[in-house]
Amino acid sequence: VNNTSESQTDVLIIGAGPSGLMAAYWMARCGVNARIVDKRGTKVFTGQADGLRCRTLEIFDSMGFQHRVQHEGHVAVEANFWVPDGKGNLVRQGPHCSRKVNESPFRNMLLNQGRIERFLLDSIREHSSLQVERGVIAEAFKYDCTKESGLDDYPITVTLRTLSDAEANPSDLRAEEGGSCKVASGVTRGNLLQDDWEELISKSQAKETKTEIVKCKYLIGCDGAHSWTRKQVNIPLEGSTTDHLWGVIDVVPISNFPDMRRLGTVTHSTGTILVIPRERNMVRLYVPVQTIETNTIGQGRFDRSKITLEMIKRRIQTIFAPYTFDFQICDWWAAYQIGQRIAPTFSKDNRVFLAGDAVHTHSPKVGLGMNMSMQDGFNIGWKVAMVAKGVAYPSILSTYDSERHRLAEMLLDFDRHWSGLFTESDDEEKAQNMIKVVEFFEDFADGRRSFYGASSLVWKKKEDANPSASTSVYSYWNLIPGERFPPVKLRMQADGNLKWTTGILQSDGRFRVVILAGDVRVRAQRGRVETLAKRLSSCGSVGKSIVDRYVSLDDRLKSTLDIVAIHSAPWMEVEFFDFPNILYPFDAVRGWNYEKIWCDDACVWDRDCDGKGYERWGIDRTRGAMTIVRPDQYIGWVGELEDVEEMIHYLDGVLVAQTLMGGAE
Ligand code: FAD
Repeated sequence: VNNTSESQTDVLIIGAGPSGLMAAYWMARCGVNARIVDKRGTKVFTGQADGLRCRTLEIFDSMGFQHRVQHEGHVAVEANFWVPDGKGNLVRQGPHCSRKVNESPFRNMLLNQGRIERFLLDSIREHSSLQVERGVIAEAFKYDCTKESGLDDYPITVTLRTLSDAEANPSDLRAEEGGSCKVASGVTRGNLLQDDWEELISKSQAKETKTEIVKCKYLIGCDGAHSWTRKQVNIPLEGSTTDHLWGVIDVVPISNFPDMRRLGTVTHSTGTILVIPRERNMVRLYVPVQTIETNTIGQGRFDRSKITLEMIKRRIQTIFAPYTFDFQICDWWAAYQIGQRIAPTFSKDNRVFLAGDAVHTHSPKVGLGMNMSMQDGFNIGWKVAMVAKGVAYPSILSTYDSERHRLAEMLLDFDRHWSGLFTESDDEEKAQNMIKVVEFFEDFADGRRSFYGASSLVWKKKEDANPSASTSVYSYWNLIPGERFPPVKLRMQADGNLKWTTGILQSDGRFRVVILAGDVRVRAQRGRVETLAKRLSSCGSVGKSIVDRYVSLDDRLKSTLDIVAIHSAPWMEVEFFDFPNILYPFDAVRGWNYEKIWCDDACVWDRDCDGKGYERWGIDRTRGAMTIVRPDQYIGWVGELEDVEEMIHYLDGVLVAQTLMGGAE
């Protein structure tokens, strides 16, 4: 019996960890013909990454499930640093608290990777029938470079094989019934939530092994630190010649250490422990075990089976002394070997892309592995999705490398500074040094700044490129192309309900023209807004409203462009119907769309809504401004209400117009 079949798909994603699921979200949201495979028989249930930075939570808000993290996770903002006092005791230095906690609606949180994967999977299912094909390994790869530029061609061929149950579910992943702690497996009914448990027990079905040859237009390799995809396209991982071996345990501690439920570090002459309080009374502890010499590509591994849970526990007890430390419940533990490495490029020919651990590895203690990986998947996902749907130009694909590689370099730089502090023995100034490193990298680590450079997706004006020479009004604005749209809580004009901009600017595959309409009570300003609306209603040669100018994502979204207005007048002093009707589209069945007009006015019943949005954006409250926000909430272009032509020039460089597609006039 020939058990080999052939098929085609526009996008194939290899690996369904955090980065692969993020990329898959966009395929689901934009209705792309895509597949996602993973050689593991199940998703992650316990252990691995656990830190969520505030930018990741903002992204989750735009995807609609941030509230699930708030419900299950643990907030971690202040940190304490414990050091020896020279008399055999430990003393607390701190707490250190970020001075910038108000720059995001969300605080850094802790929740295990398995739950994040759960939320992503649920969101993908909500938007499409796309499902992770588990127990399916990618084994062979061919690339036909003669087909690189043909948009309808399928230059990539991947052979997929369905694994047997034993191959897909190594013994440490198999489900074990019973509530008590099974330290070796870490997976017990006692520590899984019901939805994860049901998925786990439904997965252990035997599968018929078969082979499939899949042709695809785009391949996204999200297959982890030992990436198979990266090897197929001959992209190396380059970097350090040492690996660090870490012991990591998720336990419910029994200890008289006063800060066991607070984020912090404990220093000893032999190394420093990182203490991370988690959900359900659990605490994660990282302890350095050993440094291993390797070659530059990380060969030279240590036999990790020599490390036992008991050894890790004893090491923690030594560092915690004179405080006590023990546990009865251990959800998960691992000896984790990792070095700082990065791939010189994250893509090949704008057809094959690599994301997450596949292109950057570093120590787990910066709490960024999962965050950076998800943000890579989020960045490449919408670009590939829109190009595969034919609604955006392929030229945007090269921005993935230019935007994310730079951040990965910063990630490694942060890790070099930070993890060095865990193994160096000098403890005199350790706490101060830790605070300095955290403060220096804070904007980058929490994702408040993205540092995306000029490209077809980031329109930098000349004065932005050379700020010291600038005399332009734009240089005073805090709306900076290449940075995220600074979050603000606003009131909906129609009903006064409140929402953060992270939820208003949804991740649905649309670019958004955000009209900061200013004080529309002022007659002259109202005139500017009406003139703008007229220009947007009949744009250029297409003769249609700007919203209808661009090709739609089938029937999912009428347009790949949306318009939103945020005015600065007091909420009670203007009416919904005072605005030009381009801002309240009408549908004969659903009525007016009320969600396009928002107001930056203080609200007495919610202090987060303080009416200071324009100040934060650095925009004059009377005159306003206009900006384009990309589907991932980064600012693409910014200008005055009159700069319509420049704005359309930006959009025409990115989105395919109806006329060029022969679309309906
Ligand atoms: P991964 O999560 O590694 O996902 C890659 C996926 O690709 C896997 O599911 C794999 O099965 C699949 N795959 C690989 N090859 C193929 C193939 N040929 N065909 C099909 N599928 C394939 N981070 C922290 O911040 N703290 C920690 O304590 C921590 N501990 C970790 C412990 C372990 C044992 C591991 C493995 C990772 C740990 N990490 C930790 C790292 C963190 O989990 C990663 O940074 C994050 O998961 C990266 O996401 P990713 O999607 O890029 O890759």
